[in-house]
Amino acid sequence: MAIAALRVALALFFLSTCLPADSAYIAYNTSASIVPGKINVHLVPHSHDDVGWLKTVDQYYVGANNSIRGACVQNVLDSVISALLEDKNRKFIYVEMAFFQRWWKQQSDSMKLKVKELVNSGQLEFINGGMCMHDEATAHFIDLIDQTTLGHQFIKEEFGQIPRVGWQIDPFGHSAVQAYLLGAELGFDSLFFARIDYQDRAKRLRDKTLEVIWRGSKSLGSSSQIFTGVFPRHYDPPDNFVFEINDVSPPIQDDVLLFDYNVQERVNDFVAAALAQANVTRTNHIMWLMGTDFRYQYANSWFRQMDKFIHYVNQDGRVNAFYSTPSIYTDAKYAANEEWPLKFDDYFPYADNPNAYWTGYFTSRPALKGYIRAMGAYYLAARQLEFVNGRSSSGPNTDALADALAIAQHHDAVSGTQRQHVAADYALRISIGYLEAEKLVASSLSRLVDSKSGSRKKSNTNFQQCPLLNISHCPPSEIVLKDGKGLVVVIYNPLGWQRDEVVKILVSDDNVIVRDSGGKSIESQLLPVSAATLKLKSFYTRAYLGISASESIKYWLAFSVSVPPLGFSTYIVSAAGYTDGRSVMSTVSSSRESPGSTIEVGQGSLKLQYDEEGKLIQYVNTRNQVHTDAELSYSYYSGNDGTDKDPQASGAYIFRPNMTYPIKSDEKSPLTVIRGPLLDEVHEKINSWVSQVTRIYKDKEHAEVEFTIGPIPIDDGIGKEVTTKITTAMKTNSTFYTDSNGRDFIKRVRDFRNDWDLEVHQLVAGNYYPINLGTYVEDGQRELSVLVDRAVGGSSLVDGQLELMLHRRMLHDDIRGVGEILNETVCIQNKCEGLTIQGKFYLRVDPKGGGARWRRTVGQEIYSPLLLAFSEQEENNWAESHLTTFSAIDPSYSLPGNVALITLQELENGNVLLRLAHLYEIGEDEEYSATASVELKRLFPNRKIVKVTETSLSANQERTEMENRRLKWKAMETASETEVKRGGTVNPVKLVVELAPMEVRTFIIELSFLQMMP
Ligand SMILES: [Zn+2]
Repeated sequence: MAIAALRVALALFFLSTCLPADSAYIAYNTSASIVPGKINVHLVPHSHDDVGWLKTVDQYYVGANNSIRGACVQNVLDSVISALLEDKNRKFIYVEMAFFQRWWKQQSDSMKLKVKELVNSGQLEFINGGMCMHDEATAHFIDLIDQTTLGHQFIKEEFGQIPRVGWQIDPFGHSAVQAYLLGAELGFDSLFFARIDYQDRAKRLRDKTLEVIWRGSKSLGSSSQIFTGVFPRHYDPPDNFVFEINDVSPPIQDDVLLFDYNVQERVNDFVAAALAQANVTRTNHIMWLMGTDFRYQYANSWFRQMDKFIHYVNQDGRVNAFYSTPSIYTDAKYAANEEWPLKFDDYFPYADNPNAYWTGYFTSRPALKGYIRAMGAYYLAARQLEFVNGRSSSGPNTDALADALAIAQHHDAVSGTQRQHVAADYALRISIGYLEAEKLVASSLSRLVDSKSGSRKKSNTNFQQCPLLNISHCPPSEIVLKDGKGLVVVIYNPLGWQRDEVVKILVSDDNVIVRDSGGKSIESQLLPVSAATLKLKSFYTRAYLGISASESIKYWLAFSVSVPPLGFSTYIVSAAGYTDGRSVMSTVSSSRESPGSTIEVGQGSLKLQYDEEGKLIQYVNTRNQVHTDAELSYSYYSGNDGTDKDPQASGAYIFRPNMTYPIKSDEKSPLTVIRGPLLDEVHEKINSWVSQVTRIYKDKEHAEVEFTIGPIPIDDGIGKEVTTKITTAMKTNSTFYTDSNGRDFIKRVRDFRNDWDLEVHQLVAGNYYPINLGTYVEDGQRELSVLVDRAVGGSSLVDGQLELMLHRRMLHDDIRGVGEILNETVCIQNKCEGLTIQGKFYLRVDPKGGGARWRRTVGQEIYSPLLLAFSEQEENNWAESHLTTFSAIDPSYSLPGNVALITLQELENGNVLLRLAHLYEIGEDEEYSATASVELKRLFPNRKIVKVTETSLSANQERTEMENRRLKWKAMETASETEVKRGGTVNPVKLVVELAPMEVRTFIIELSFLQMMP
C-alpha cells in the first residue's frame, strides 16, 4: 500500500471510530413503525416452504435427503421462534399449515404457551393459512375450499386467529376464483403474489398498476373484490439483501475494530433500493420480502442484519424502515385513502420470457391430476355418508384423506411440477387416506342397508369398491355368478338432485340379468372391452399388483339406474336362466364389412356419422335439429430441446413446441362399431399408442370420448405433447371460453390480452389456458362445448376448433428448478415403458344460449360420479332383509338444478358444516341464472335445526363479523357497476337459503334428532 493511501485509510479509520461511541456493544433500535410523510419500507421476514417439490413434504420438514437440497423446515421454525423471543419488535409470517402442524405437535406445553404469546402480540402472524399454498391453474375450487378450511380450522382452534391476507407468492399464474372466492369470500383484505406475465409486469411497473382492486367474478362484482399486490420483481429481497448463512450479500459491518466497516455504504444501498421501488408504487409504502425458498434455517443471520438496517437507516432518516407484515402493509395502503385501478378476469397464462409460457404444467402428470380429482370427489361423498351415520371417534374417518388431498393441492403437487419420488409420495398419501375412507363408506352403507326395520339381520354386509377402475380392475364385480349367487350393486349419488344414468361394471360372464330392488328385470347391455383397455389392464395389474389378469373374455355390463338425491339405489346382477330379461349382447361390426359406405351411430337424438374411411364427419341432434360437420383428431407437438438461439426447452412447467404432427397410423385400422339398446360405441385404434372409444348413450345428447394414450414413443429422441382437436366449420371470431378452477367461464381471445398490447412470440403456448371443467366456442347460432375429467391445458387455435393437451412425455428439463425431466414410466421388473393414461372428455353442440345447462349439470355430475359398492348375495332375498333405497333428504325434495351441495360434513363438535354453491353466472342461462332457494328443513328431515350460522368460506368467522371487519376499498370505477345480487339473510323460522348467481354460502348448523334415524 502506498503511503498516501495508508494515510487516507487511517484517517477514515479514526473518523469512523468517532461515529459509534462504543464499539463493543450496540443496542439496536428496532422499535420503528410507520412514519407519515416518509417512504416507509415494510420489512416482511418470510420463508417460502414448498409442501413437497424436490423432496417430499416430510423430507423437507425433517431435513432429510439434503444432498438434493439443504432444506429443513424444522430448523426454520425452531430458529425463527427463538429469534422472535429475543426481540419483541421482530416479526415473521408463516404460511403453510402442513408444516406448522407437524412442528406444533412436537412442542412442549411451555413452548406452545410462548408461541401463542408471539401470535397474540402479532410478532408471529399466520397468513394465507391453508395447509399449502395451492396451485391456481389445475385445482378444482371445491378441493381448494377444503384445503383452506382445514388450515384455517387449525389456526382457529389452536390460536383463535383469523388470517387476513392471501399470500400466493409462488403459483405460476393466478385465477379469478383465487381472487374472489379463495380471497374475498374468506374475508381476506388483500392478496399478494409474484408471478405474472413479464409484459404485463413491465406495463404495470410503468403505470404504477402493480397494486389493484381485483374483481374476479362478473356475477359478484364489487361484493367480492380484493386489494391485490403484485411484487415488482419476485418474492425475494432486493439484490444484495439476502442473508441466509451461505448467501453472498454483504452484511453490515459496524464494528470499528474490524476491517471493512461499511455502514454508510450499506445504508446508501438500502435507500437507493427503496427509492427505486417507491418509484413504481402508489403511496409511500413499499414492502420488502425478506426471505425466499426455505430460508431462516438459521434465522439470526437474517434478523441480525435487519436489526442493523432498521437502526442505521432510521438514523440516516431518508427513508423509514421497520419490521412489518403484509397485514400492517395492507392497513397502511388502506389508510392512504387512495383510489386503486381495477382488474378483472385473471392472470393466465404466465410467461417469464418470450419463449417461456408456463402452460405445460396445465397437463403435466395427467394420471396424478386425474387421481387427485377423483379422490376429491370421493372425499366429498365419504363425508356425506359419515354425516348420515354420525361421526365415530373410534372408527375409520376421512381425516387422513383430507390431509393427503390438502397437500396435493400445493403448487408443486397437482401442478405436476415435482420430482418423480415426490409425485409418488403424494399418490401414496392419498391412497392411504382413501383406504381408510373406503372403510368408512363401506361401513356407512352397510349400516344403512342393514337398518331395514323388522329385519333380523345385524349389520354385517360387507361392501367392496373398485378404486382401480382407471386400469379396469374390479375383482368384486368380476366374480363368477353361479349357484344362485347374486352381485348386489349399491349406487350412491352425492348430488342433491336425482340422477338417471347408465352405469357400467366389469363382469366375467355373458349370461346375466340385472334386476332392480323390486325384483323387476331392467334393460341391460353387454359390451366387449376394447383392445386398448384389455392391454392396459393386463400390463398394469402385472406392474402394480403382480398378478396376471385372467384370460377369460370380460365385458362391460351397462344398465340404467335411477338414484335419489344424497342417497342410493340397489341393483342385483345374477346369472340368467332362459328368461326374457337377460342382458342383451351388443352387436359388433367392423367398418371393413361395408366398405365405401358411411356409418351412423346413436340410438337416440344424437347421431354421429363417419365417412367411408372411418373418420368422424357429422354431429347431428335430431331433437333440436342442431348439426355441424365435426372432426376429431389427435396430434402431437414435438417439444423444443432448447438447442436453438434460446436455450429454453419444453419441460414440466413450460410448453415450448417446435412443430405439430398429426397422429395417424400408416394403415388405417377399421372402426369397430358396437350397438345395443342403451348405448353405441365406436372403437378406434388411431395408431399403436393412441386409441379411443366414443360412446353415445341413447338418452343423452352428448358424446363421451374415452382416450387411451401411451406409451408415448421417445426412441426418436423427441419429447412429445399429445393433443386432441375437435374441428368444426363454426366461425368463432378468435374467441373461446375456459373455466376458472371449475367455476366462472372467462372469455379468451386469441393473441390478445385485456390488460396490455400483447406481443406474441409463442403462437400456440401463448394461447393455452387451464381447463378444469370445460371450454366452449360459439358462432352466434351454436355452442360447441367440451367437458373434461381432470385438469388439462387447452385452446382454440383456429376458429371452430377446440384443442386439449392430454398427455406429455418430455426429454429435457426446462430450467425452472425441478432439475428432472418429465418422463413418467411404468416397469415390470427392469422393463420400463412410458406411462399410459386413460381418461374422458365429453362433447356436445347446443343452440346458442343452451350450452350452459349441459356444462353446469353434467359438469357437476362428472366431478361427483355415482359411487358404486358391491356385495355378494347368497340367497335370492336381498330386498326382504335390506334397505334398498335411501335418501338422506326429504324424499319428496331435491335441490334446485342450479345448486350444488359442495360440503356436508359433521364436525368434531357434532355441528354440521354445509356449503351450497349456485352453479350459474349472471346471464348464463335464461332460467337458471336466477336466485335459487334451498329449504334447509327438507335437507335435514328427522332432525331439528337448532341454529344456523352463516360463516366465511372457511367457516372460521361469522359472515356478519367478516362483512363488518372487511376493509372497504375505493376503486377507480370505469363504468357504473350493475347492481350485484346476493342472497338475503336466512330467516331462523323459515330456514330458506337464497343463492344468487355464483354465490357459495357456508353455514354451521346445530342439529338435534327429532327421532332416531332408521
Ligand atoms: Zn413454491
